[in-house]
Amino acid sequence: MTTVTRFAPSPTGLLHVGNIRTALHNWLLAKRGGGRFLLRIDDTDAERSREDHVTAIRADLAWLGLVPDGEERQSARFALYEREFERLVAAGRVYRCYETAQELELKRKVRLGRGLPPVYDRAALELSEADHAARAAAGEAPHWRFKLDHAETITWDDGIRGPQRFDPAQLSDPVVRRADGSWLYMLPSVIDDIAMGVTQVLRGEDHVSNTAVQVQMFTALGAVPPAFAHEALLVGSEGKLSKRLGSLGVAELRAAGIEPEALLALLARLGTSQPVEPVADRAALAAGFDLATFGRAPARFDEAELHRLNAQIVHQLPFARVAHLLPAGMDEAGWAAIRPNLAHIGEAADWWQVVTGPVAPADLGDEDRAYLAEAAAVLAGLDWSAEVWKDLTGTLKARTGRKGKALFLPLRLALTGREHGPDMAALLPLIGREEAVRRLA
Ligand code: GLU
Repeated sequence: MTTVTRFAPSPTGLLHVGNIRTALHNWLLAKRGGGRFLLRIDDTDAERSREDHVTAIRADLAWLGLVPDGEERQSARFALYEREFERLVAAGRVYRCYETAQELELKRKVRLGRGLPPVYDRAALELSEADHAARAAAGEAPHWRFKLDHAETITWDDGIRGPQRFDPAQLSDPVVRRADGSWLYMLPSVIDDIAMGVTQVLRGEDHVSNTAVQVQMFTALGAVPPAFAHEALLVGSEGKLSKRLGSLGVAELRAAGIEPEALLALLARLGTSQPVEPVADRAALAAGFDLATFGRAPARFDEAELHRLNAQIVHQLPFARVAHLLPAGMDEAGWAAIRPNLAHIGEAADWWQVVTGPVAPADLGDEDRAYLAEAAAVLAGLDWSAEVWKDLTGTLKARTGRKGKALFLPLRLALTGREHGPDMAALLPLIGREEAVRRLA
């Protein structure tokens, strides 16, 4: 059976690190076995959903390279929900209720006071058809609850949490439809997972109790529930649910010079027993993806770790991948020379300027100036098709007796204007004979 996963964001905001992680894991799970990864826009809440968020979600996924194999929008599927809902009405699996939020809150308090679980008491199940007619005549519309089957213990084998067991009598019958006819998340999600052929639902552990009632909804609709897995939540490096993580998204990370490969490499392994490594290849991440390696403890997201990983990733990125991000004129050799010195690709421009010049003249004493003049003369006579930096420093060492810092630093200072930087052996050919001789002289 082909694995079909889905990522189902509500477009009430932008993607943040936490839901990017969920998207990635669903993508990896699907791609590991050559399966399909679907995007479902959960926009049943017309008031809070925004079109610009939908656009941003698609763009963020594209930037991350997590391209969906299909997309559905819940707002376009109301006719399907209506049909499936009618089946549940006919089967007596949904029922009409009228309690206000205040009434429910009061009932909750009373039950808690009596030491009972604060679940809905099913009072509305006692209403007769005459009661409903009277309510309707008074202009009162019902909201609808799904009737859990109390005789059917809820179980599933969670891909991360292991065997799960819930007593339905300890759960409230969930409201699935509001009095104005609008849908709550719970039922449409199940209807879609069936219709879209989803085989694996992988989401955060905040959905475990939703899964319990959704398992019965699948059965009530005549479907076999998909496999479920719930991952521990992502927390800040301090170990707490962090406000920052809830707002940290693609735009900000991008602006900070984070490459998608770095974010994905970190999020793929965080919270698993596999080491976080600078794996830039998504296919390689997918090949090693395994729910069995996920731990139950919250996964800690550390921005400093992300930046370290980013540097390691940048050091591997091939020219073709970064060419459009580099300063004009910087070629493959330039990228190869400068890449090991970068924490972010954006810094390439700065180093490229060192190659193309102008660089500030070095502030050196007479002795060093004489040394540089000699270096200029040597350099002018060298064969530039060979290892020119090695030949230059070798000759100067023999001639002047200088070594170590005294040998190298004045050259680097004069040639680049800086004390540190990329390997001179790679940089010098890029600077070129004429310009290098000029800088030394
Ligand atoms: N729209 C829901 C959410 O963002 C989807 C949950 C699910 O994966 O079923 O929480």
